[in-house]
Amino acid sequence: MASKNKVALVLSYQYPGKYALTVLAGAVEADAVGQEVALRFPRDRESLLAAVRECHDAGYRVVVAWSFYSASFPGAVEELAWLRERLEGREVLCIAGGVHATAETEQTLRGGFDLVGVGEGEPVLLELLGRLVRGEDPRQTRGMSRLVDGKVVSQGRGEGVVLDTYPPFAARHRMFGAIEITRGCIYACRFCQTPFLNKARFRHRSVENIARWTRVLREAGKRDVRFITPTSMSYGTADESMNLEAVERMLAAVREAMSPGGRVFYGTFPSEVRPEHVTPESLALLKRYVDNDNLIIGGQSGSERILQASRRGHDVETVVRATSLAVEMGFVPNVDFILGLPGEAPEDVRATLELMRRLSELGAKVHGHTFMPLPGTPYRDAPPGSVDEETRKELDRLASQGRLYGHWKQQVALANGIAARRQPRR
Ligand code: SF4
Repeated sequence: MASKNKVALVLSYQYPGKYALTVLAGAVEADAVGQEVALRFPRDRESLLAAVRECHDAGYRVVVAWSFYSASFPGAVEELAWLRERLEGREVLCIAGGVHATAETEQTLRGGFDLVGVGEGEPVLLELLGRLVRGEDPRQTRGMSRLVDGKVVSQGRGEGVVLDTYPPFAARHRMFGAIEITRGCIYACRFCQTPFLNKARFRHRSVENIARWTRVLREAGKRDVRFITPTSMSYGTADESMNLEAVERMLAAVREAMSPGGRVFYGTFPSEVRPEHVTPESLALLKRYVDNDNLIIGGQSGSERILQASRRGHDVETVVRATSLAVEMGFVPNVDFILGLPGEAPEDVRATLELMRRLSELGAKVHGHTFMPLPGTPYRDAPPGSVDEETRKELDRLASQGRLYGHWKQQVALANGIAARRQPRR
């Protein structure tokens, strides 16, 4: 039998990319190739450098991996350069993946990464590691792109992952996270990267698989379980309808797996509920099974025109109705809004502020975001979101009354940065 190479995968395990890296680490440790790969999770750049040096000097072929969103791309590029400057001739393979790397592959490669994983990461990373273990050329990995003579050479894209095939986290390394129960999204909100990266179709993890990993989480001593899904009440469906029977089977299984003493958080961070899915029946179901007292509801704009232009698929009154119903059923609705969406006129901004006030009077908290023209989305080339002085004052007033929260101010700068870095489409 051919001899195997020792391979180390060093993950730049920092916010926010660490969530995706936890999923990838889970795929590695569950796969046969994972038996041949040492995993490291350094949480800052000094430990990243130390881990890379140590693995390299111990004879491992070292892969260093980053995953980032568009806003954290410059930070990752800077860290990569910092690391390379300190490697003192050690050769390591630096790779990147995630939604920004997929949408802006060339820009990411020009940022200095050797290879960029395009699309869904699990199969791409496993093939890459397998190649390294067997001593084969990692550049031929399906789903990896690279620069050759200044031009992008693509080996296709990773896609079609069946969630049950992979764990949601890396339990053997005690790296846990929210359980991804659905990937892909049938809605086509024009500001959102999810349908672009993961396709416009729901792929659900099975109830049995979710229950199995919830038990693993509980047995590891974790008290809370949370879930990742593009839209919480879409579990078990292929279209806009709800399948409450499927949601109930899943939540009942999760509840049992977390017993005794565990807590179940659903319809809340890190996921949300679409407003038209907030009905007396869905709320009654949540009441029976979840421990959260708040629900996160996507509202996005108070302007019918802007809701339609951004293809949200619901109107303003649906957001109001969802808020009232949630309050009636004893939940605090946290309603998401995006400020500065493309095409907003002053009357649209006024309508959003008006809706924010109306919802907060009904008992909601309002979560403000600033629009970012994200790569891969139909709004990629739109102007970055901005917030005028008058709106800013009104938002500050809502915040001082405890009705509004969020990083909308910082996101103005991030949105400008994304717009400044974007390159013309080819
Ligand atoms: S915003 Fe939510 S519902 Fe809309 S496309 Fe994105 S994930 Fe789907």
